[in-house]
Amino acid sequence: MTLERHRPFIEDLYRELHAHPELSLREHRTAARMAELLREAGYETHEQVGESTGVVGILRRGEGPTVLLRADMDGLPVTEVEQVPYRSTETDDWEGQRVGVMHACGHDTHMASLQGALRVLAEQDDWSGTIVAVFQPAEELITGALTMQEGLRELLPDGIDIALGQHVFPGAAGEVFTAPGPVMAGSDHVIVTVHGRGGHGSQPEKTIDPIVLAASMVVRLQTIVSREVAPSDRAVVTVGTFHAGTKQNIIPEHARFEINIRTFEQPVRDKVLAAIERIVQGEAQAAGAPPATIEAGPAAPLTINDDAAAAKLGAAFDAEFGEQHLPQEPVLGSEDFSDLPATWGARYVYWVYGGFDPETVASARERGTFDVDVPSNHSPNFIPVMQPTLDTATRAMVTAARTFLG
Ligand SMILES: [Zn+2]
Ligand SMILES: [Zn+2]
Repeated sequence: MTLERHRPFIEDLYRELHAHPELSLREHRTAARMAELLREAGYETHEQVGESTGVVGILRRGEGPTVLLRADMDGLPVTEVEQVPYRSTETDDWEGQRVGVMHACGHDTHMASLQGALRVLAEQDDWSGTIVAVFQPAEELITGALTMQEGLRELLPDGIDIALGQHVFPGAAGEVFTAPGPVMAGSDHVIVTVHGRGGHGSQPEKTIDPIVLAASMVVRLQTIVSREVAPSDRAVVTVGTFHAGTKQNIIPEHARFEINIRTFEQPVRDKVLAAIERIVQGEAQAAGAPPATIEAGPAAPLTINDDAAAAKLGAAFDAEFGEQHLPQEPVLGSEDFSDLPATWGARYVYWVYGGFDPETVASARERGTFDVDVPSNHSPNFIPVMQPTLDTATRAMVTAARTFLG
């Protein structure tokens, strides 16, 4: 691998991206930079793919599989606290407030290592097929991949053979983690509006109290995970907002609450969503109230690695990384990566790599202080060590691409 020669480019790009993060769907500078670098590396470059700032680079080398490689581009409304020389001092408006902006999810490491991998791959002449590099906006909103689907379908009407994506996470730098099957949860957002009959607080008999009704729904919803989902399956049902009423002596007309649901398998997801509907409408009926209004908010898809492809990649990572290739634990976080291959119904593999000082990680694990000592994604302290994080991510991307190209 010609990684050594590209290392300064990858590290400089990482510092530059880290210092200039942009919020979801505002990745204009970042997207322009990604496009410029793709052109420089000899990739056929398409900007504004889809409805937003998505960028696609294509390199065709005759007959062979089409392999999609993905990096996400957005930063977060988080103010950076560590005093690294390349720290971000960017600010932007977010929901009416001036906020700091930071690459607190490490998407800068994804972009820098993918650009590095694309250069390494472009120089190699012993593969055939087509590389499709996708720089995706708005992963943090779980909408960015969807915004690119139409554009991708137009660019690649014949589809792809596989999509590959990776994410940095709070593990030891140098380590890479893969697994077959479910690796990230799907996330659903359900908004429930409970309709009662309002009136005076002193005359409950003339009303249908939506607060008592909604409260009873919230309590009953807790039984989905504890009583309906099998102990061997995983699910989370969290009621994260609850709003009703204006004054203590008025029984309001409505109550409204929002539910976040995380699941790893489609049958479990279907079961949980059906149980929510049944419980909400059942409680409304029991209270003599009209049916509640149940709406779906933005959902994140499940991330379920193709078993055969994950096994093939696992063998390639064993050869490349040896003992530093480890099994990936499924996490309840969500991703929209799988919406890219879903454009064509293609299979995919998504893996993670560590980004933190191996000694810090090991001693924190030993002391049982991992959750405190190693920052999690989205924390203002989430600054991966540059190396071997960037080398590892670049090698992983090159190895993965080569595993599936001809
Ligand atoms: Zn994130
Ligand atoms: Zn992320």
